[in-house]
Amino acid sequence: MTTLVIRNIAELTTNDPSIGDESPLGRLRDAAMVVDDQQVLWVGPNATAPDADESLDANGCAVIPGFVDSHTHLVFAGERSDEFEARMAGVHYDGGGIARTVDSTRAASIDDLREGVTKRFAELTAGGVTTVEIKSGYELTVEGEVRDLRLAEEFTTETTWLGAHVVPPEYRKDREGYITVLTSSMLDACAPLAKWADVFCDRGAFSIDEARFILEGAREKGLAPRLHANQLAHSGAIALAVELDCASVDHCTYLDDRDIDILSASATVATLLPGAEFSTRSPYPSARRLLDAGVTVALATDCNPGSSYVTSMAFVIALAVREMAMSVDEALWASTKGGALALRRDDVGHLGLGARADFAVLDGPRAAHLAYRPGGNVVAQTFRAAFTATDVST
Ligand SMILES: [Zn+2]
Repeated sequence: MTTLVIRNIAELTTNDPSIGDESPLGRLRDAAMVVDDQQVLWVGPNATAPDADESLDANGCAVIPGFVDSHTHLVFAGERSDEFEARMAGVHYDGGGIARTVDSTRAASIDDLREGVTKRFAELTAGGVTTVEIKSGYELTVEGEVRDLRLAEEFTTETTWLGAHVVPPEYRKDREGYITVLTSSMLDACAPLAKWADVFCDRGAFSIDEARFILEGAREKGLAPRLHANQLAHSGAIALAVELDCASVDHCTYLDDRDIDILSASATVATLLPGAEFSTRSPYPSARRLLDAGVTVALATDCNPGSSYVTSMAFVIALAVREMAMSVDEALWASTKGGALALRRDDVGHLGLGARADFAVLDGPRAAHLAYRPGGNVVAQTFRAAFTATDVST
């Protein structure tokens, strides 16, 4: 196996508190790192870096762990820029446009769908993302959800079945009928293809009781739960996520003190998706209250064509810093280690010894450039460990 030494790293963020400055960021200055095509083999001072088969000069730039984008809807067809324009002109977002994407995704060929996912995946990767979660949820038929999960599996092991995104148009008068399909034939067909099950539990989507029923059924089929909650209204879904031991509860736009108390006493990560608030001109979630209460916070892109057509984690970090009062280091940690915890992974999101060799070399001496130069190409190079069949979870 070929080894690579990266020398002359001005600032290496490892997210391993046992390394470097012993902060949560595990920072080393004037550092070097040795990897092979699977994992991190050595980190330490530049002056004592061992030789390797190949060498890369970081030339005084910063190196960070690859971003872990723990919430995306990459499998879709079509676009909804007209809705974005209308919202910016004052129309309120209520999630109602999802049915349009369901129509266009159902009508798309598998080749067209694959081309779209490939393009968005490449954009994420170029921006430093090395682990991505991908949800189904824009076909809402047994065959369609299977097709979308199979496609997602070509890109990641972090596949999520989101059959409970909305009730599709043909079931509008038979909600119970759709929930029966969800929890029987669709779940049976999708469970072997997904690691996670997710439900959009919010006003106009699925209720708390429906979400509990669907996620408990999914858990019996071996899927681990996660939840879209409190994006559109305060619904009580945070308590449900913690009750079900969801790895993550996502959006958290509307939170009260009780929600924050419940989260802080749990192992459930609060995943914030500020691209959605940006794109829907909604109030940003209270990251500061969550962090100050000791809640584990992750940041993700929520890439989807309706409410957050965002493929740049640097942009998400810039929003978190500028609009949500997170420090740059908190935002960097949340988009790497936080994302890993939201996927219950300990091999990604950090660059400690034995971690996957997933990292990004920045065009700048400090990770702060990610937020300091919004809209610029701050990620110079992304390295991703080999994707092997043994990674695929069942
Ligand atoms: Zn989402």
